[in-house]
Amino acid sequence: MKIIGLTGGIGSGKSTVLALFKALGAVTYVADTEAKKLMNTDEELINQIVKLFGEKAYEQGELNRSYISSIVFNNEEKLNALNALVHPKVREDFQHFIKNQKADFVIYETAILFESGSDQFCDYVITVIAEMAHKIERIMKRDSVSETQVLERMKNQSADDFKIKKSDFVIRNNHLEDTKNQIFTIFELLKKLKLK
Ligand code: ADP
Repeated sequence: MKIIGLTGGIGSGKSTVLALFKALGAVTYVADTEAKKLMNTDEELINQIVKLFGEKAYEQGELNRSYISSIVFNNEEKLNALNALVHPKVREDFQHFIKNQKADFVIYETAILFESGSDQFCDYVITVIAEMAHKIERIMKRDSVSETQVLERMKNQSADDFKIKKSDFVIRNNHLEDTKNQIFTIFELLKKLKLK
């Protein structure tokens, strides 16, 4: 089974692109969603997070996301420490997930594919990009936030150029119809790659 990494900056349209691949029949795994689940269910991980952030990290058995976000936002060391706890767990979970799959390829979506080193276990990488104005507008609308808040979030992400250089495929998600055509082409190519 081939593993296809799918990444891109905030608002580029990763989730949208993934949903379109899924609609074509692709098996998909969203690292962020699974990470959230694991942070609420994996005993070992919960204990490690409490050690790192204190008892306030959980409220009535649920991860206190706003508390954690407020800490890691301006504290790279804590963010790295959190990522170092969560990523191995997600990778482990993904290994279990693919064991039960019979598909020729699985698409693994994460905003931090390269940053987390997960590109190393991918056979191919797809990066989704979009024009800056589109990304800002989409996030403002999706998350009901100001332009300043969007720019603040983007500040911590690595540049598209860096991701493009390390990718096998790039999807330009500016106009949806055009995006769908690119996805269809890549999907057909991925199906053929299994023959290799
Ligand atoms: P990401 O997962 O990369 O942060 P999303 O897929 O959530 O991005 O897209 C951000 C927002 O923009 C969503 O509300 C989505 O519906 C919208 N969107 C994505 N692609 C397009 C597009 N090509 N045209 C218009 N809106 C789009």
